[in-house]
Amino acid sequence: MSKEKELKKRRKQLLEWYDTHHRSLPWRSPPGTPPPPAYHVWLSEIMLQQTVVKVVIPYFLKFIRQWPRIEDLASAPLDDVLTAWAGLGYYARARNLHKCANTVTQDYDGKFPQSPEQLQKLPGIGPYTAAAIASIAFNVPAAAVDGNVERVLTRYYAITTPIRNNKKQLKTYAEQLAHVDDKNAGDLTQALMELGATLCTPTKPDCPSCPWQQTCMAHQTGVAADLPKRAPKQIKPERYGTAFFLTAEKSGKLLLQKRPENGLLGGMVEFPSTPWQDAAYKKEQDILSHFPLPDHIPAVFKKLPGRVTHHFTHFTLHLTVWAGSVPEKGLSAPLFWAAQEDLHKYALPSIMKKLHNHTLKENKSFL
Ligand code: SF4
Repeated sequence: MSKEKELKKRRKQLLEWYDTHHRSLPWRSPPGTPPPPAYHVWLSEIMLQQTVVKVVIPYFLKFIRQWPRIEDLASAPLDDVLTAWAGLGYYARARNLHKCANTVTQDYDGKFPQSPEQLQKLPGIGPYTAAAIASIAFNVPAAAVDGNVERVLTRYYAITTPIRNNKKQLKTYAEQLAHVDDKNAGDLTQALMELGATLCTPTKPDCPSCPWQQTCMAHQTGVAADLPKRAPKQIKPERYGTAFFLTAEKSGKLLLQKRPENGLLGGMVEFPSTPWQDAAYKKEQDILSHFPLPDHIPAVFKKLPGRVTHHFTHFTLHLTVWAGSVPEKGLSAPLFWAAQEDLHKYALPSIMKKLHNHTLKENKSFL
């Protein structure tokens, strides 16, 4: 069989399987029906980066309820978008989401461009997302290669070296499949992703249910579950800090501050803390030198037992907590007071929510 015939056959097998086995998701159109709005495809793809479908569904529904059109999202205050995003992590994505909504609204009259090349020029859209939007929303044949797709193709071709050594080759394989036919481009993209998410899963590939089982080289040679080969693990650095959980003496309000717009957790709200450094702080003076209110360090501080740990992409953070109460005096930005009951209105990242819960558990007298 010629290579083209083989690709067409494999594509057909995959699309037929997808017709009957696709999951119904709020941002998806059933196979063979008109594509979903590009706004929905884009929003779901950005949310799905590094996050699983189950977690994304309620966020996606909340966003399209609150901001039904891209123009609505563009005109929303960034803080509202960050607050709605809180819990999905990777806040740079939420900031880019807002930026991108503004660019599409202002420069493209609210309509996403259709080619992967133009899509890639928009904020927060990389090659994978551009190909996913172009194919799913506009039926443009384009290969969207994410981790799922890489795993499926690594197994299909029984590649025995780690994925990171074969990125280019895997992209070529995906492109061959995408370009061999220009029909059903969106369904093909979603079918390949679906295969990786539901059958060709990381630990237990369900080969007997797979439409490609007869030609998949890993399955045929009995090594499917052993692939892809893992690259040697890189050790994540650890960082340490102390957070100040300060309440106002009379009103019980909490002292918060807004992080700088750029950088990690940019524009999010946090409990003030020492800088995060490579080793735990050993001396009290070192911690106190970063106290956010130099004029009224409380006479009584409670150092709460335990610590709060959070795994960021590139490092693990351990925060200890010092809790105390201080006079409620005028503050200057980025510090501000917030009532306990209003805490949910602020874009608090997961680490700060954990810290709040930890403090509630360890020290109810402050709340
Ligand atoms: S046959 Fe198994 S290993 Fe091969 S693509 Fe299908 S699920 Fe993955």
